Amino acid sequence: MSDIEVPESHPRYQSLLTRHRIEEGVEKGITSAQGLIAEGRGEAFDYLLGERTLSSADGAERAAAAHLLLARRPVISVNGNVAALVPGEVVALAEATGADLEVNLFNRTDERVRAIAEHLREHGATGVKGLTADARIPGIDHERAKVDGDGIYDADVVLVPLEDGDRAEALGEMGKTEIVIDLNPLSRSPRTAAVPVIDNVIRAVPNVAAHARDLRDADGADLRAIVEEFDSEAALADAERAIRDGAATPGEREG
Ligand code: ATP
Ligand code: MG
Repeated sequence: MSDIEVPESHPRYQSLLTRHRIEEGVEKGITSAQGLIAEGRGEAFDYLLGERTLSSADGAERAAAAHLLLARRPVISVNGNVAALVPGEVVALAEATGADLEVNLFNRTDERVRAIAEHLREHGATGVKGLTADARIPGIDHERAKVDGDGIYDADVVLVPLEDGDRAEALGEMGKTEIVIDLNPLSRSPRTAAVPVIDNVIRAVPNVAAHARDLRDADGADLRAIVEEFDSEAALADAERAIRDGAATPGEREG
């Protein structure tokens, strides 16, 4: 998968590998230069969180799975960082939940949308959306507002990993149930989400898929109970507390 020489015993192995995948994404034309900066910010927060999935984040990932399974039209939004880091994993999540994949970029160019769609197809995706771009999110400037009419525009539940604050807010105002994956619990995007998942996409996406497989045969009432019991304020507060108090305390986390 990678041509860099990082010994697995290196204490920063996972983080260096992640960084390298983003670099490769830039070289392949699927990740933007801004994506490199976003990666740097993410790494800093992940470091402070102890590079583990908090049990509060695991709860959010289970609630996210329940929302996706209950949805009429669930859509997973894919940007350049997500495509570089977890292409096979978003395809598997789409399969586990019956969601569509839609390429949706902050710095949109048709060339990059096509490159990402192709990259996802190489990882097993069929019917990737985002190329039609025949609808607009109200209240957002032109290029960043573009979405597919039968995709994000019509979705009732959207999973938006690493979404920017403005667009997260605008999607919320359209009445959609938003699930945001973002390592920064203070960022506007997770704070506007119905389900903020404060975790690395590398851990979060496969874990939402695992919960979805686990819940596949659950009935609607059970899924709705999981959705209702989830407390977004408590999840955000727990992640902030983990960062401020030092997440490294053993027993505070599960992973
Ligand atoms: P703000 O939300 O504070 O106004 P921003 O969201 O515009 O700033 P960006 O650099 O665009 O700033 O945000 C990138 C976001 O993506 C950061 O909050 C960062 O923590 C998050 N992020 C980056 N990499 C990952 C990752 N692998 N998994 C989850 N979140 C990530
Ligand atoms: Mg943000």
